[in-house]
Amino acid sequence: MAFPKKARFVVIGAGIHGLSTAWHLAGKLKKKNGNGSNNDIVVLDKDGIASGASGVACGVVRNNYFQPAMRELMMHSVKVWESDPKNFSYHPVGYMQISPESMHKDVASIYEQQKAIGYESDFIEGKKDSMEYMKGMFHDWQAKGITSVLHEKRGGYANNTASIYGLANKAESYGVRIITGTEVTGFKRGSNSKAVTGVVTSKGTIDCEQVIVGAGPWVKRFWDMLELPKKISIKDEKGKIHKDYPMWIYWMLTEGVLGVDPNMQKTDDGSMPPVIHVDSDAHLYSDVDGSLITDKMWGIYYKPDFNFKGVQGGSAPYKIIRPVDEVKVDPYGPASPEYQTTAEFAHMWCSALAHCQKRFMGKIKTYHKGPSGGLGCFTPDSFPIFDKFCENVYFIADSNHGYKMIGVGDLVSDELLGKESSLLKPFRFDRYAKGELHPVSSSPFPWS
Ligand SMILES: Cc1cc2nc3c(=O)[nH]c(=O)nc-3n(C[C@H](O)[C@H](O)[C@H](O)COP(=O)(O)OP(=O)(O)OC[C@H]3O[C@@H](n4cnc5c(N)ncnc54)[C@H](O)[C@@H]3O)c2cc1C
Repeated sequence: MAFPKKARFVVIGAGIHGLSTAWHLAGKLKKKNGNGSNNDIVVLDKDGIASGASGVACGVVRNNYFQPAMRELMMHSVKVWESDPKNFSYHPVGYMQISPESMHKDVASIYEQQKAIGYESDFIEGKKDSMEYMKGMFHDWQAKGITSVLHEKRGGYANNTASIYGLANKAESYGVRIITGTEVTGFKRGSNSKAVTGVVTSKGTIDCEQVIVGAGPWVKRFWDMLELPKKISIKDEKGKIHKDYPMWIYWMLTEGVLGVDPNMQKTDDGSMPPVIHVDSDAHLYSDVDGSLITDKMWGIYYKPDFNFKGVQGGSAPYKIIRPVDEVKVDPYGPASPEYQTTAEFAHMWCSALAHCQKRFMGKIKTYHKGPSGGLGCFTPDSFPIFDKFCENVYFIADSNHGYKMIGVGDLVSDELLGKESSLLKPFRFDRYAKGELHPVSSSPFPWS
């Protein structure tokens, strides 16, 4: 098929957001107009399907967020995951947030609000009851200093690449054209307005009515192409204005795999366990030599995963301390010569696993050495921006919460067709200037 010269909608990025948007949009157009044309929606990717963050993500799907707007958004996305678990390669095993006393109040409020929105979860409080609950599931549970357990009965995880291919198949079945190996290098602008009239690519220009940017860690490149501000003003919760705040910052998301039989992490009744997330302020000691790793707050998450061939998970990310313009996102993920998970991560994560469950003691020797993890491009408050810029360019900048947000494309497609989404409204760009920020939790992770 010839390279298109025009399309009504051009979507940049064949990851979770680009493909979910294309699929939902195509479904709605089909419903409205019948079969539509092949050139209604074109998805472009410089590499291939799932070649960005969506293809390396751990794949955890949860509702556990301190921010009410995030929880409501996640509830919507969980429904989309549940709508077709087979094609999305989704495992609805549930999710557990296991916390120390310093987080008790925050997590209790999450539980209360989950009840209010009808998201099924159990909340266990107190040291003794938390230990009993965990031991009832895993006889070898031994994490110290835990005083609450939030057990979400929905959510779980999905297999990263498989789910993105599932989405691509759905989009193509509605006539979406996915063109890979095509890099977007610029935009064609109209003479009378700020609007984009075409997308310039390595294979030619595609004239279009609307552009959707779902570029994950590459979002800053598109922001810069459209000459959007590199620094912004932020009004904090006390009304104080912070001028010249950097718009983007990169963090390295650290993850790895313990090369054990995934079945070893089954619960005592033989089921596949929920995804486990533990935050702790207990001293963390090395499982190798007993030395102190940290006396500060730490956190890990893990799940048995046949796709990763072991028990897979991660710990809190770290900031990339260098000017954002100098951070090289390409080559991405496992191919990056610069941004990789380190031996220090392996030591901490494996020791933390052993701290939580006896079965992991001495297992660091099975850790899969080699490249893992990936860069993320974060917004100033580490929450997403879903908004239209330059009149017709819709940015889906998820600030690295995004794999679980398979439903955002549904809501974005409504907005592209003129229907505003109340779930997306709290994530507009002007919240920074207006001081309408999301509440900040006491979790050690920037995305909770
Ligand atoms: C190690 C790691 C683990 C994670 N784990 C989780 C998790 O468990 N749960 C969760 O919810 N989130 C997780 N995330 C975050 C999540 O992966 C991202 O938020 C999400 O995948 C972003 O999706 P996207 O579609 O916006 O971008 P991507 O999946 O990155 O897709 C963007 C696409 O744009 C393409 N592109 C870039 N530049 C151009 C260009 N110039 N022209 C054409 N195409 C271009 C890229 O090739 C890429 O395929 C994780 C992230 C990382 C790095």
